[in-house]
Amino acid sequence: MIMFSNVDKWYGQYQALTKINAEIHKGEVVVVCGPSGSGKSTLIRTVNRLEAIHEGQILFEGHDIHGTDANLNRLRSRIGFVFQSFNLFPHLSVMDNIILAPTKIRALKGAAARKQAMELLERVGMAHKAGAYPGQLSGGQQQRVAIARALAMEPPVMLFDEPTSALDPEMVGEVLQVMRSLAKDGMTMMCVTHEMNFAREVADTIWFMDAGQILEKAKPDAFFSQPEHPRAQRFISDLRSH
Ligand code: ADP
Ligand code: MG
Repeated sequence: MIMFSNVDKWYGQYQALTKINAEIHKGEVVVVCGPSGSGKSTLIRTVNRLEAIHEGQILFEGHDIHGTDANLNRLRSRIGFVFQSFNLFPHLSVMDNIILAPTKIRALKGAAARKQAMELLERVGMAHKAGAYPGQLSGGQQQRVAIARALAMEPPVMLFDEPTSALDPEMVGEVLQVMRSLAKDGMTMMCVTHEMNFAREVADTIWFMDAGQILEKAKPDAFFSQPEHPRAQRFISDLRSH
């Protein structure tokens, strides 16, 4: 569904991604991990073109994402993205946050959009807050609404960049639970997260990054018990000692 071929990216003189070759299949859950500054956010942001690339190619459903003829609006409506910060529109109710894109971009009619929104809110356990405003919700609740909002465009793939990192610890679990259930329903997912229990349980494949490269791709069991790359071994042993 997503294929990176020889992707390079620079920020000025600094090479942030080096020769990225990787692919994500339909229904696969990839967890990207690695130390801070290793390029995880940069990599995930290239997929919906929040970051440009300088060499190589990224294909999404066979289309060249960074090609000159790529349809950016269509692309972004096909790729759900949930960030660390919740990014809900503060002046809109939970319901209106969710139906905004479907009614504007997919031209879904009001009643149908609201019905779909309620189903999504039920799925993330937030139906009782449809009329609330983001400021009246906890961080974990806002993040669950943000996931529902992304799902409202019915994207075949969801990207998550540290969706629980800004949350108080007691709210992390409820967001991970929503992600876990999405994965179980067969959603294709690329997740940057430091939640290694989640990675171990939910990921089909772990990508370990350091200094702009993917140094290792492995199944979670293998990655956590016998990481191959010395840098990955150090990363795992640092995790253990915390
Ligand atoms: P991670 O998400 O793994 O912490 P990032 O992808 O955010 O890493 O960053 C990778 C590297 O690129 C870091 O050294 C960071 O300082 C640098 N970087 C990220 N964004 C920018 C930017 N907009 N301009 C310049 N350098 C950047
Ligand atoms: Mg990051």
